[in-house]
Amino acid sequence: MLMTRWMLPEMSPLTHILKEYATLESKVRDAIALICLPHCAACRHVCCRPEFCRETLESPFLSLLLAEFPPAIPFQSERGWLTEIGCALTVGRPPVCYEFLCKKIMGRHPQGNHLYAVKVLSHLITHVGKNAAGRRHLVELAGITKLNFTRLRKHLAEANSALGAICRFLASGNIESTSLQILGRILPRPLTNANTPGISQPWQ
Ligand code: SF4
Ligand code: SF4
Repeated sequence: MLMTRWMLPEMSPLTHILKEYATLESKVRDAIALICLPHCAACRHVCCRPEFCRETLESPFLSLLLAEFPPAIPFQSERGWLTEIGCALTVGRPPVCYEFLCKKIMGRHPQGNHLYAVKVLSHLITHVGKNAAGRRHLVELAGITKLNFTRLRKHLAEANSALGAICRFLASGNIESTSLQILGRILPRPLTNANTPGISQPWQ
């Protein structure tokens, strides 16, 4: 069997974080694609911009992911990572690429818990990198020498738990209070009218 970097017996904390981050990002990417693809594929006002794409080149952490999971095409100054069939990056996309869901997409989801779950899903990758070194976000760091690995592991665990809760909810249509607590670690849930259809929520 071919031994890959991920299978080395002595995995450094950074290598471990990269592996876990990439695994989570792949799952989040696929879950968001299920929601967005029907809309994005038919969109005439594609919101991807080379200046957003560029963060993958400029962020040391995202650059590491890029090196481990190189895309099939190189960065192009006019289109960034965008191709005819979507983003060429399998992982290492700037977190904002997951965070931004346009009104066209958000407007297709029932308000209340359903919309809240989609919003949390879009924030999972951002959540992982919060306060990765002091108050700085993982992708904003100029270097990766002072990472708070304990906090990164905690955020990864929270994001994975939330992703599981979201997938269960979107598949079943039911969400338990324990799952809402898990989601609340990523984004606070509105205190009032959270499940009332037609009520505008502060996080919309
Ligand atoms: S997120 Fe919205 S604006 Fe951006 S490409 Fe998709 S449908 Fe178009
Ligand atoms: S999703 Fe990909 S192509 Fe679109 S802005 Fe982000 S990195 Fe660029």
